[in-house]
Amino acid sequence: MSGTGPVLQIESLSCGYGRFDVVHEVNLHVGRGEAVALLGPNGAGKTTVLRAVMGLVRNRRGSIVVGGTDISDLPTHRIASGHAAIAPEGRRLFTDLSVEDNLILGALHLRRDRPRVQALLASVYALFPVLKAYRRRRSAFLSGGEQQMVAIGRMLMSDPEILLLDEPSIALSPVAVEIVARALMALRERGASLLLVEQRVDVAAQVCDRLYVLRHGEIVEEMSAEHARRGEHSMIDTYLG
Ligand code: ATP
Repeated sequence: MSGTGPVLQIESLSCGYGRFDVVHEVNLHVGRGEAVALLGPNGAGKTTVLRAVMGLVRNRRGSIVVGGTDISDLPTHRIASGHAAIAPEGRRLFTDLSVEDNLILGALHLRRDRPRVQALLASVYALFPVLKAYRRRRSAFLSGGEQQMVAIGRMLMSDPEILLLDEPSIALSPVAVEIVARALMALRERGASLLLVEQRVDVAAQVCDRLYVLRHGEIVEEMSAEHARRGEHSMIDTYLG
């Protein structure tokens, strides 16, 4: 980690697919140790912003700086080597592999440094003891909430400056959503910096410090989570509607 400025600074980001931009002049930042939510209706461009940070979608204009380094033009494998990590929507685990093997895959770029990988594994198990208990179990046999914990743990294994989470609560039972919310709170207590894409305003307001609302690829609102928790989020409901 380096510097005292925001851990993630996105300025005037425009990007999209083919010839069309779906994200327009987006400005957002995440402070060190801050949890920030990106809310918005289907198709607003939330996933595209996360994919742009990972270099999976090229920014056509603007810049993306992580921990003081401009990563806008870096290839994805370099970005994933300690700058940023993503838990994609649907988790994308290797369900035939054990929990531990899925976690170790997050540390591919560190594979020659076995002590570091073991230390990171120990820190993930300290954060999520249930994963230690299930470390030899095939990931397919875990519940949805537990699988999401593996996806979060896999991000931590790359020791990134910023964690990107794409709808971790989607398609989960209420119990599993609660498990995921607790896992995110545990991450926060550990001082992690998060950018969380969520459709559930309640989960975002519970876990985060600040919220942005994206609509039609543009940031249309920014507010503190406290504001949202006080129930003053009719504006957000309107935007999400
Ligand atoms: P959701 O909540 O439904 O996941 P989102 O806010 O994450 O939505 P994106 O997935 O970023 O939205 O999509 C933004 C726009 O880009 C949508 O109009 C979508 O159809 C389009 N889009 C997404 N992926 C591609 C792609 N690979 N090729 C072309 N267009 C795409």
